[in-house]
Amino acid sequence: MAAMPTTAYIMLGERCRSNCSFCTQRRENPHSDRLSRVVWPEYGERELIDALHHDRIFARVCLQTLDYDGMVEDSIRIAGQLSDIYPVSVSMVPVDEDDMRRLKDAGVEYLSIALDAANPEIFTRIKGKGAGNRFTWEGHWRALRTSVEVFGKGNTHLIVGLGESDEDIIGVMLELRDMGVQTALFAYTPVNWGNPPDIRRYRVIQLARYLIYDSGISDFHFRDGKLTGFEAGGDAVESAARKAFMTSGCPGCNRPFYNERPGKELYNYPFVPDMKIVEKGVSDAMDYIAL
Ligand code: SF4
Repeated sequence: MAAMPTTAYIMLGERCRSNCSFCTQRRENPHSDRLSRVVWPEYGERELIDALHHDRIFARVCLQTLDYDGMVEDSIRIAGQLSDIYPVSVSMVPVDEDDMRRLKDAGVEYLSIALDAANPEIFTRIKGKGAGNRFTWEGHWRALRTSVEVFGKGNTHLIVGLGESDEDIIGVMLELRDMGVQTALFAYTPVNWGNPPDIRRYRVIQLARYLIYDSGISDFHFRDGKLTGFEAGGDAVESAARKAFMTSGCPGCNRPFYNERPGKELYNYPFVPDMKIVEKGVSDAMDYIAL
């Protein structure tokens, strides 16, 4: 392996009742054993818990639940058996405050509620009413605010390449940062429609995410929604770049090859990239800004 996963990623649930149009687990694709481009072999609960107790090779356990009756109870039961030895994250559709508190009481450290889309129109089309789901843009933001109140911090996912502008996605990350919500970036993996994002654009959005969250930068310039520059002092870009191109998410998450095929240029590096990769990434990002 080029990179071992540093987190144990566990998908919970047999069938998803939702139908997000970018997702291999959507209701209208009932036979898939994949999420993104990754296959998820099946294990029994006892076997899984015993193995995780026996081989403590992971920095974190991440429960990624489908949307189904019992997702909260299953997460509480499993988190409760693991949270004494691992930090546990849960990624779930919005649930009410009581359920969030029960998850926290079971030892869940991070609750991630994925916005995925960076503007309300795209959200409604791919994840809301347009996809046959009950989710709304406002409801997801409400749940993110509640999760910050309950957990003291929040977490979300944004997918680059769903048709959003740079201004949409950077504006959303600025708002999320100010609310106390971290962003994990994903590159759109075509499973149903469309194309993956241009790597130069992905590099610039990764750089912007890092500068927003880790350098506290807020001044970005746009023309017709496209990023044309930002205000960052001295060597901010050079010092950011090594970490900026790595997988973003909870501490200890590296998600190897989740968005990309081995052998191609990686969107998210599951390890610290070498200087050649960093220099190309910065050069690609600057080329994109100059377009
Ligand atoms: S709720 Fe989650 S698992 Fe279900 S279709 Fe949407 S993104 Fe996929």
